[in-house]
Amino acid sequence: MEPDETSLDPKDWSELRALGHRMVDELFDHMAALRSQPVWRPLPLSLRAQLRGEPLPRQGRAPEQVYQEARDLLFRYGLGSIHPGFMGWVHGGGNPVGALAELFAAGINANLGGRDHVAIEMERQVIRWVAELLGFPSESAGLLVTGSSQANLMGVLVARSAALGPSVRAHGIGDAKLAAYTSAAAHACIPRAFEIAGLGRETLREIPVDSEYQMDLAELRKAIREDKARGYRPFLLLATAGTVDTGAIDPLARLAEIARAEGMWLHVDGAIGALLACAPALREKIAGIEQAQSVALDFHKWGQVPYDAGCFLARSAAPLLATFGQNPHYLQPTARGLAAGTPWPFELGPDLSRGFRALKVWMTLKTYGTERLGACIAQCCALARYAAARISAEPELELLAPVPLNIVCFRYRNGNTLDTLNADIVADVQESGLAVPSLTRIQGKLAIRAAIVNHRTRREDIDALLDAVLKMGRLRAAQSA
Ligand SMILES: *Cc1c(COP(=O)(O)O)cnc(C)c1O
Repeated sequence: MEPDETSLDPKDWSELRALGHRMVDELFDHMAALRSQPVWRPLPLSLRAQLRGEPLPRQGRAPEQVYQEARDLLFRYGLGSIHPGFMGWVHGGGNPVGALAELFAAGINANLGGRDHVAIEMERQVIRWVAELLGFPSESAGLLVTGSSQANLMGVLVARSAALGPSVRAHGIGDAKLAAYTSAAAHACIPRAFEIAGLGRETLREIPVDSEYQMDLAELRKAIREDKARGYRPFLLLATAGTVDTGAIDPLARLAEIARAEGMWLHVDGAIGALLACAPALREKIAGIEQAQSVALDFHKWGQVPYDAGCFLARSAAPLLATFGQNPHYLQPTARGLAAGTPWPFELGPDLSRGFRALKVWMTLKTYGTERLGACIAQCCALARYAAARISAEPELELLAPVPLNIVCFRYRNGNTLDTLNADIVADVQESGLAVPSLTRIQGKLAIRAAIVNHRTRREDIDALLDAVLKMGRLRAAQSA
């Protein structure tokens, strides 16, 4: 057999080319008609069973058939996060140019772990743009990673190396008595980062929040004082710019002062809020972020870049190299040739092989510019204020937390056992396909949470959500009466 007979490329490209065109057409038709579709539909049991029972495909089939099968599943039973009525958790809407970029990046199939090729230069460009946006120094360094869970973990690891020096890489933390601080409203990936890093969750002090859900500075100072008196070394302060429950932003400039005075690394979890820097009227809310040692942010949330696209940024490459740098003999950089171009990205983070995430970010930023992305962010915040005003005016609804950003926590309050009732209402609304909110807990009360992140969401979608909650609430209230 000739070697080329076993290639996966087609002999004649015309059919596959036609399929590619059709896939783009059908995808864009789907995107253009989202509002005529339910936000989400549950996967029928029979179909789930069929998917779970299907054996490994040993023989191939025509790509048209395979695509149609995927399309029929995904257009009908997908997550729904591109739909303007999707307000569950904190999900970005993606964008059509970012989708084209993903197709193109997959075709180029670049590995951005290292070597001297232009895709890496494009990722470095994105990192420089993020630094410029946030007011970080021009020598800042970082990586695009899966998401802020990974970027926050990197922040913890880098701060640990900075505190303990190179010996921590050989010996672990030994009997070092380290203490780190974050707010009680911080995302759950932060305590998990301490678990993964081997520091243990108890190294992290969860500081109570004030009535605005921001870290309480008096409580922080008290915790630091007590830790020092007990022989602990404060090494890391993790601030949040946009908490996952209410969108609260910790007082970043004042936290930067405290971190400086105590010799702590300041890392900002900006998964939601760092991109407020794109919106001129809102960027003041994150003033002080430019003083952080490192930042995590998510392009796949308010940046509207398709999943996944997180980012870790530090003020220079040095602390990253000190944490992750390696030079095994099979990855030795050289002065010239394809192995030039140090440092290679794999030395700045935990991954060796790395996909071309940067292209969808690069194309999204270049196509829309930060101004248009910022306008989408401002629009989401205005819609959240509109939702809050409607909720406050509606006797059957109760607003459960302030709305400083794009997240609205509320509940239906006409009935008994409100937690059960609101959990039922959220499932009812999701299953109706009218909207997708999610649940959280605010001061012990189960809350309906609407996070408005999608650039496609409009007032009519907010109205559809609130009308659906009222409708399901009344139905449930009538049933139990
Ligand atoms: C989403 C989120 C995270 C986790 O980010 P992923 O990209 O989902 O890994 C961390 N912190 C906050 C505040 C978030 O909203």
